[in-house]
Amino acid sequence: MYTPQEIILIKNGELALKGLNRRTFEEALMKNLRYRLRRAGDFLVRCAQSTIYIEPKNDAADLDEACECVSRVFGISAFSRARVTAKDLDTICRETATYLEDRLLSSATFKVESKRSDKQFPLTSPEISREVGAYVLEHFPHLRVDVHQPDLQIIVEIRDFGAYIHAQQIPGAGGMPIGTGGKAAILISGGIDSPVAAYMMAKRGIELTAIHFASPPYTSERAEEKVVSLLERVGRYAGHMTMHIVPFTHIQEEIRRACPEDYFTLIMRRFMMRLAQKVARQEDCGALITGESVGQVASQTIPALAVTDALATMPVFRPLIGMDKEEIVRISRQIDTFDISIQPYEDCCTVFTPRHPCTKPRLHKVEEVEAVLDIDGLVEDAMQGIRIRRI
Ligand code: ATP
Ligand code: MG
Repeated sequence: MYTPQEIILIKNGELALKGLNRRTFEEALMKNLRYRLRRAGDFLVRCAQSTIYIEPKNDAADLDEACECVSRVFGISAFSRARVTAKDLDTICRETATYLEDRLLSSATFKVESKRSDKQFPLTSPEISREVGAYVLEHFPHLRVDVHQPDLQIIVEIRDFGAYIHAQQIPGAGGMPIGTGGKAAILISGGIDSPVAAYMMAKRGIELTAIHFASPPYTSERAEEKVVSLLERVGRYAGHMTMHIVPFTHIQEEIRRACPEDYFTLIMRRFMMRLAQKVARQEDCGALITGESVGQVASQTIPALAVTDALATMPVFRPLIGMDKEEIVRISRQIDTFDISIQPYEDCCTVFTPRHPCTKPRLHKVEEVEAVLDIDGLVEDAMQGIRIRRI
């Protein structure tokens, strides 16, 4: 059997477990980990002694890449990359010095902490720490012990399957495992905001379905590819998803033809709402998500939001509603969507934009001006024309 030299450990205290039942949480997390680790190679993901073990099954499995994948899986607040050794004190001392050599050389102070869950091991935890500490001091004479604020904390664990040596934990993505929060549909444009909104709700454990409105030939194929690239970036955290591309050209042309210009955006957004809800229901989603933030543009005033929400038959989550653009940009850089979002491609919202949009609309007035359209027919046609892409 293949014995891995290095593995990833996620301990109980490192799970972002709150509220949810532990079993549901762990099962969802392990399933997500298995799925997301596939691109890094063959890994065994198992749970024992309140710890999730991620072990390479062969030499081709890439642990660097696995760490990167794990750092983007929601439900984990921290994890450790650990050396596996025989349960023998001399080996443990030697392996500590080689495995952590770079960090021992670059630190001034250190501390060893040991945990022994295998009580067969002849030394107690304090004895192990003392022995390993003495060995380190002997081989790295520049180091000093600091038990309060060490530069490097070395952790030695004696467990059932072997001994593990690791340094400080690596921060995880936090949040809840995808799937534990139900499913919702993200209205995704090519802008900065909606990918961030998608990420934020996915972090709460929500599985995503994506809806994108496209208006060819006013919006290009490259604009659609841009949205696909954004969803792929979001998918590093949110997992795989289905993208529904809704044809929007005819609806927009009809609104432009038959409705007053200053109502164009409002009526368009009401069509988005009608269509998104239909797709969401078909896809078993319980809510919609948008990247709206109060006051950002004319369609994001309270009265304008009220006019779209008047049609809502399911909750509409707007995680960015109270955020400043700078805060949104910061998250978008952190999740690597910013550089794609700022590529200059058109969005259906940027075609036919009115010069003087109505910012204080009244619902009855909007209903009156849109009533000249064959709303049901337009919605039905657009639904018929939906294309699907797997992300
Ligand atoms: P974003 O940066 O996400 O595009 P924005 O500040 O540019 O947001 P709008 O263009 O008014 O604002 O869009 C508001 C929200 O409407 C978006 O965050 C998104 O959820 C949704 N939306 C806009 N355009 C589209 C589209 N083409 N397809 C799907 N949803 C869209
Ligand atoms: Mg936009």
